[in-house]
Amino acid sequence: MVRERRIGVFGGTFDPPHVGHLVAAVNVAHQLGLDHVLFVVANVPWQKVGMREISREADRLAMVELAVDGREDLSASAIENQRGGDSITADTLEDLIPLYPDHDLVVILGSDAAAGVGTWKRGEDLKSLARMAVVDRPGTTGKRPPEGFSYEVVPCPLMDISSSDIRERSRANLPIDYMVPDAVREYIETRRLYRP
Ligand code: ATP
Ligand code: MG
Repeated sequence: MVRERRIGVFGGTFDPPHVGHLVAAVNVAHQLGLDHVLFVVANVPWQKVGMREISREADRLAMVELAVDGREDLSASAIENQRGGDSITADTLEDLIPLYPDHDLVVILGSDAAAGVGTWKRGEDLKSLARMAVVDRPGTTGKRPPEGFSYEVVPCPLMDISSSDIRERSRANLPIDYMVPDAVREYIETRRLYRP
C-alpha cells in the first residue's frame, strides 16, 4: 500500500548539524513530497570505538533544535536517546511506525552513508521497513546502497561540508559562519564545544 503522507527520517550524529544536512533535507522533502523531516539524533555511547570524543547527546539535540527552529516541516527527534543503547535504524523505524500510522517513512542518506547500509546492525531488516532517498556528497558521488535496498536518488546541490570539517575549523579558531545556522554557531562558540 502506498500511503499519501510521507515522513523523512534523517539520522545522524549531528556533531554539529550544518547546512549540508539542511539542504539535503529540504531537497528530499521537495522532490518526494514529504510532509515532514525528522532529524533523528544518534545516541552515541561515550566510548565510541576509539576515534574521537562525541559531544553529549543533549548538546547535539539542542543544536539540531536550533538549526530547525521556526520550520514547521523540520524537527529534531530524541527517540534514539529515549530508547537508549546503540542507535539502530531498524529499531528506530519500528518505534516510529506506530507513531505515524498514516505515513510512509523514507530514510534519508548521504551517499557515503548509503554505501554502508549493508553493514549496519539489522541492515537486512531495513529492506522491508522503509524506502530510502540518497543525496550525493562530494567524495562519494555515485555511491549507492547495495543490491536489494529500494532507494531513489534525489538531485541536490553538492555541499562540500562536514561536521568533522566544522569541528576542525572551530578547534583552529577559523570561521564557521554560514556553514552552520547562526544560532548553532553561537551555541558552539558560547560553550566552546570543539575547543581543546
Ligand atoms: P562527520 O564528519 O562527523 O561524520 P557528517 O557531516 O558526515 O559528520 P553525520 O551526522 O555523520 O554528518 O551525517 C548524517 C547524515 O547526513 C548522513 O546520512 C550523511 O551522509 C549526511 N550528510 C552529512 N553531510 C552531508 C552533505 N554535505 N551532503 C549530503 N549529505 C550529508
Ligand atoms: Mg558522517
